[in-house]
Amino acid sequence: MPYIKVDLGRAIKGKPQPEGYFDEEVHKEAYSDEIKSSVWEEKLNELLEYLTTGNLPEGVHCKSPKMSPKMAKSVIWFLQEVTKIIPDEYEICEDCGEIHNSDYGRYFETNGKFYCGDCLEYAPVVHCEECGNEAGYKKDTYSKKHKMYLCKDCKKKK
Ligand SMILES: [Zn+2]
Ligand SMILES: [Zn+2]
Repeated sequence: MPYIKVDLGRAIKGKPQPEGYFDEEVHKEAYSDEIKSSVWEEKLNELLEYLTTGNLPEGVHCKSPKMSPKMAKSVIWFLQEVTKIIPDEYEICEDCGEIHNSDYGRYFETNGKFYCGDCLEYAPVVHCEECGNEAGYKKDTYSKKHKMYLCKDCKKKK
């Protein structure tokens, strides 16, 4: 895995990185090939745990900010969307609070939240069982007649 050097102080302030430090163009390949999804998931969950509880991997010590999960989420969001240090395909599951690749689960426009594959069934929102598109809230989209969740279009067609 390539070593990625990041000046966090500058990154948090939204300032450009010094020469030789993280560069999105240079590390594009690292994102797609060498840094495998599972590694990102593992490391990001470690970061989340550190930010919220102070638990660190063995052998390292640092005082934790002991943030609320909501604050920790906003730090990770900033690193993804503003500084682009973390690829944005990683999402925090609304239900279990773990970080997963967005391929494993689903983001819902209806409530603006992501649910991982393990927690999809507990989400208040659901996809259409006919076409696979987002249907909306479970309570609004269940068709008693067809005994399944249906989006508006599919409800009309049936
Ligand atoms: Zn989950
Ligand atoms: Zn549908």
